Amino acid sequence: MTMPRLIPEQHEVLEMLKRSGAYREGHFVYPSGQHTPHYFQMPLAFRYYDTARVLAVALSRKLRLEKDVSSALPKVSIISPSPGGIPVAFAVREALSAEQIYWAEREEGKRMFRQYVNAGEVHPCVIVDDISRTGTALQETVEIVQQLGARVIGCAVIVRFRGSAPRLEVPGDEPVPILSLVDFDAKWYDSGDACADCKQGAAEEHVRF
Ligand SMILES: [Zn+2]
Repeated sequence: MTMPRLIPEQHEVLEMLKRSGAYREGHFVYPSGQHTPHYFQMPLAFRYYDTARVLAVALSRKLRLEKDVSSALPKVSIISPSPGGIPVAFAVREALSAEQIYWAEREEGKRMFRQYVNAGEVHPCVIVDDISRTGTALQETVEIVQQLGARVIGCAVIVRFRGSAPRLEVPGDEPVPILSLVDFDAKWYDSGDACADCKQGAAEEHVRF
């Protein structure tokens, strides 16, 4: 048996996600009415400790190559834009030996940190997430990190949809590249009319979000 490389190739990551059930191929319909031939349910990859570790170590290797990140360690804060990214944040924190973890939540439609997270206590931040479809969650997280007076020094996700922004805009600072293990070509149909799978009469699976 060979040991997995520390930064696996994109197709190896996709294979891992497929094996764990996190990457699914089929004929999916969203509540919005959009149709798509693929679906990511990323927490399914993080239910297996070994898969989670390989993915987190790969992300941490990519992050360590960024000078801003490697020179700040271990006084770094790993930030998740939402509770969904918490397993990624904990696993990356371990791989980087970073000192802090924070995650944002949505309250009344607004992304925010928990009360009593205070300006001045937060180390320079690395934002991580399992998947970035539009980049909006990552970019909103930059804003709330800056409100705490902390710097954003890195960003990494397991899967990034191509077509979304490749970097974070950081007002008053350099843009930060969004590192990823997989750059995915997402296919969307606005309705069933244009959908290739509908034309072939493939059974639909309805996904919740
Ligand atoms: Zn369809």
